[in-house]
Amino acid sequence: MFQSYIGLEIHIQLTTASKVFCGCRAAFGGEPNTNVCPVCLGYPGVLPALNEEAMRLSYLVARALNCSLNEQAVFERKNYFYPDMTKNYQISQFASPLAKEGFLDVAYRKHKKRIRIREVHLEEDAGKMIHAGDLSLLDYNRAGTPLLEIVTEPDLEVGEEAELFLQNFRRLVRYLGVCDGNMEEGSLRCDANVSVNVRDRGLGSKVEIKNLNSFKFVRKALNYEIERQEKILERGGAVTQETRLWNENRDLTEGMRIKESALDYRYFPEPDLPPFRPDAAFLETVDAMIVELPRERLRRFLTDYPLSESQADFLCAEKETADFFEECVTLGADPKAVALWLASDVRKLLNRRSEILAKSPLTAAWLAELLGLLSEGRIHGRIAKQVLEAVFEEKRSPGELVRAHNWEQITDPGRLEPLIAGVLEQEAAAVDQVRRGDAKPLGFLIGQIMKQSGGRAEPGLVRQLLKEKLGLTFIQVLAMGGAIGGSRTEEGVIVPGDLQPLIGKLTKSAGTGLSQNIRFEEVEISRILSEEITPEDWAALISALNGHLKEENASGIVVAHGTDTLAYTASLLFWLFPEPTLPVVMTASFSPEEAESDLEYALKAASREKPGIYVALEGRLYSPLNIKFARVGRGGFVNWNLASPVYRGGGLTRLYTELPGQEELTRRLKDALSRVCVLKIYPGMKGDYLIALMNAGIRYFVLELYDTGTANLRETPYSLKKAFLTGKERGARFFCTSQQEGIVDFSGYITSHELWREKAVPMGSLTTEAAFTRLLAVLLFSEDEDEVLELMEEANADFDSGAQSN
Ligand SMILES: [Zn+2]
Repeated sequence: MFQSYIGLEIHIQLTTASKVFCGCRAAFGGEPNTNVCPVCLGYPGVLPALNEEAMRLSYLVARALNCSLNEQAVFERKNYFYPDMTKNYQISQFASPLAKEGFLDVAYRKHKKRIRIREVHLEEDAGKMIHAGDLSLLDYNRAGTPLLEIVTEPDLEVGEEAELFLQNFRRLVRYLGVCDGNMEEGSLRCDANVSVNVRDRGLGSKVEIKNLNSFKFVRKALNYEIERQEKILERGGAVTQETRLWNENRDLTEGMRIKESALDYRYFPEPDLPPFRPDAAFLETVDAMIVELPRERLRRFLTDYPLSESQADFLCAEKETADFFEECVTLGADPKAVALWLASDVRKLLNRRSEILAKSPLTAAWLAELLGLLSEGRIHGRIAKQVLEAVFEEKRSPGELVRAHNWEQITDPGRLEPLIAGVLEQEAAAVDQVRRGDAKPLGFLIGQIMKQSGGRAEPGLVRQLLKEKLGLTFIQVLAMGGAIGGSRTEEGVIVPGDLQPLIGKLTKSAGTGLSQNIRFEEVEISRILSEEITPEDWAALISALNGHLKEENASGIVVAHGTDTLAYTASLLFWLFPEPTLPVVMTASFSPEEAESDLEYALKAASREKPGIYVALEGRLYSPLNIKFARVGRGGFVNWNLASPVYRGGGLTRLYTELPGQEELTRRLKDALSRVCVLKIYPGMKGDYLIALMNAGIRYFVLELYDTGTANLRETPYSLKKAFLTGKERGARFFCTSQQEGIVDFSGYITSHELWREKAVPMGSLTTEAAFTRLLAVLLFSEDEDEVLELMEEANADFDSGAQSN
């Protein structure tokens, strides 16, 4: 077994107005060789003068990285020749850098780790050499701009972890406002040292990798390099200490030169600059610039506001977004609504217009105003989206727009009642149909009333007033088969059947305790036992549910299902319907004899509970997520890893709100299922079995591991090792759940550590059924591997934070 060590050398261009040792402008772009002077061009006899602002920003970064400050920062000359540097030396720091021994924490795959910072030093940047055909051109605009170098200890282990560290670091310097973090323009650059050795033998030969100018390249190059070194060591060879370049076109690293050592540079103290000693007054000016850092802000957002982890992370990714959010909240807007609008409608508009929030016409005051109009009921949801678009187009406030376009909705029941009475009189036939227990004409009646109001009536209020007028409550029952609608033959065998007689019986019976004006409408979807469920059945259920939720004719929906696969269907619905407008209650029965009481309880829950998805069985409510079938004793089901029985966290909210039609849905479900496989590992399982599945087209595995996430990864056929290595080559992904009620966090055991090093993803508190259906839900909408991975990890983070706080 190998261990890998990655250390990073990060360079950031500080956003000072002028260069570090002269008064030239320090800015990206500009006509070549226009921001230059004798000092930064290194003419004889000129003297450098230290830019104190550059020092201030440098110490600010050092403080934010928890470094200890050296008493003095000594500038030294690093001697070497290269055409982009006219002086033949670079002013840098060597023996006494400005700061050392800091840290930055990261949490990769639930593995929390402290990455130590070895040192922070300030130097001057070189110019730029541009190759154009046979010519090499030189632009010295960049020469002498302040460049801060941050060196980490080799505490990182895999490419993904280094990528995450770098992203966190970039967020930090952007929050501090010391660097724009633009990797494409080179204002944030990264080199890495990679060293692989047999576990417990310490560092091996060090290879330096250059040319990592995107986060993706960091990940890919480091993973490539780790594998390259492992292969050399496996063959018994020795890794050469050298500098290699990442070739982004061929996806590999190439040898560039044998690495020089520090001695080769003949460092000596810069005679023209005195050592810099940060005194108390200077450090006070540094401390005055400290802002709340991204990690602290994220933590505070999670405590102060009712946000999911992915929402908080989205808001805190950019300081401007986080500030915008808090400004809206200060102005009285509901934090949940602000987060939702920023992550969905506002983001979509910004993407479409290729704008960023800070430079868009939308201000925090205007978004707060829009949400205010919505919550006061002056406009409804559809109009609110229209207003938002108009804000971007017309650059006027929401209030003005609503007035100018006459978009204000009618919310006064006094004005609506005559309209409703008129329509009911005109459409007597439809009214009669509804009174007899058919909900279908309700939509038509609502449409007529809306038309009469010129589209300005509040739809929710119309629906409510209409139902009051008719004196009816509808509960729709979607029948999916199962023992609940089944019957027992003379031999005692349970067979699937029709739910209608039972519904009829419940409607007539006076003693059920169900209100007399409740009407039930049965929609038969399939008549099977739940173990016989197919992708077509799922697609039919999802489409029917989607349609009924949109129509909003009913006050609640009951899904009558079988017990065996209910855990799957319930969690799939949970992921796909993050914000149902009605209570959706799934129920099932262990036998036809218990069907009546189970259905009755579910119907009551559907007429009483708040909107959400629930599972009801034997007189109890459960969360649709993390449900386990536990037939022993009473109770029927249990929810794993949940502090409270009903979890109301978010589903797959972030990207998609529109479900495809039934036919397309069936096609996508089948396609997703052909790439996914759920496996429970057991002693003696061979890695070859998984490889056979990969050969059959499986790309995503949900692996049920032992305990908190352990498995055999030794060099034996009875381990997952070979499967993981093959998976890496073929782009297969492994999402790990537990066979026990436990949280998979890959901690504690060396076997867990090996798993996360091989890129397995722990699914935290999610059960196998919940992880599997999340994967299906994600694959319905995304083909992009990175996005699939991101959405899987998001579910897991949100559930972990939600399950504990709910
Ligand atoms: Zn200059």
